[in-house]
Amino acid sequence: MIVGDTLSRYAARRSQLLSGTASPGEVLEAAGDLLRRRSRLETEGVDAALRGLGRPQVEAWLKSQKPQSLQPVLLRAAEEAVEVVLDGGEEADMWRTSALEGLSARDRAASAAHALAVWEGFHGALDGDAAQLRDRFLAALQSLDSALSSRARWFIPLNPQRRQERDLLEPAEQDAAWWFSARAGCDDLVATWTASPQTLTSHLQECEACRADMADAAPVDMPPRRHLTAEDLWRLDMGLLSEDERTRLDAHTARCGECAQAVLALDEGEAAIDEALDMEEDGTVARSARTSRAPVSHRAHAARLPEQREVLDERRDFRVVLVRERQRVRLLVQPLAGRTVTAAVFLSPGRPSLKPAHGPEGIAFDLTSASATGARSAHLSVQAGSETLERDFAF
Ligand SMILES: [Zn+2]
Ligand SMILES: [Zn+2]
Repeated sequence: MIVGDTLSRYAARRSQLLSGTASPGEVLEAAGDLLRRRSRLETEGVDAALRGLGRPQVEAWLKSQKPQSLQPVLLRAAEEAVEVVLDGGEEADMWRTSALEGLSARDRAASAAHALAVWEGFHGALDGDAAQLRDRFLAALQSLDSALSSRARWFIPLNPQRRQERDLLEPAEQDAAWWFSARAGCDDLVATWTASPQTLTSHLQECEACRADMADAAPVDMPPRRHLTAEDLWRLDMGLLSEDERTRLDAHTARCGECAQAVLALDEGEAAIDEALDMEEDGTVARSARTSRAPVSHRAHAARLPEQREVLDERRDFRVVLVRERQRVRLLVQPLAGRTVTAAVFLSPGRPSLKPAHGPEGIAFDLTSASATGARSAHLSVQAGSETLERDFAF
């Protein structure tokens, strides 16, 4: 069934290609996706699409390529692949889907490179600056692969899906596509990550790669688990993290003492954060000082992040307060002096007001999900007797 899903996803690339609305990058990726799976998929129209792609378009596309940005994508995918095993439970599907998206990103770059070569066959080779850009693009992919392909063990938890992906590829493409094919039969290794097995399966006894992995199964060899960036911490503090982001953050801090400390330091001010974190230039937390890591429960931080209140407006009859509490953001309109107050909050003009909740503190508008979906401001309208307030506010 998943095979069918995967197949139809690639088949849909052809419709995208033939729609005439695809960008040059999408044409290259879709064409390569199909050509690299041509035994399994209909490829009619692919050549025509590549022939229709002009030289300036291809050169502009090449200029915009940053294949090195795939490195963090793949590292995150590795972390997520490991979560599939370690978290196991309900979130495993979410981790798996997200990790597979990372592998697909690397695969699309391979497709674009493949299609680019075919394009050059039709249109003549790129030359001058464009040829240099092409060489740089291909070299960057190659160095990415040599840095990461030896770590393909991290993706073993995705093996059932990786085997399906591998088998859809033309045989000549399979080995190069290490993100799908390397260690694709090493499923047994996963069990050794969480426990020392009493008996070794025949695969673990015979597979050279697995034997090497078990021989130096030092903690340092564990798959990466992304450390929190300064931005993560800031967004956590401001209550701006989405549900998914929070789940990931919790999963990480549950196991990473350094990041758990950083989260704990949030309510102790900036100075403490700087002290707790040794920020690297790229904004990630340094991975040094592993020896000092202590098992700090991520549950602890919840109790220690205080509610923050900011008075946005105060009138004779009411007060407007923005309340941040962990990941939640609420706008509170508090009646003063016992007056009847009505209020409405609009995320965008012409849309109905957010649903107000009436509580002991007044009228509350929950902005949490709006914030999680990227909204940053809204319009507030308050009426109390003859007094009205119309204003925008940020959250
Ligand atoms: Zn193996
Ligand atoms: Zn960490």
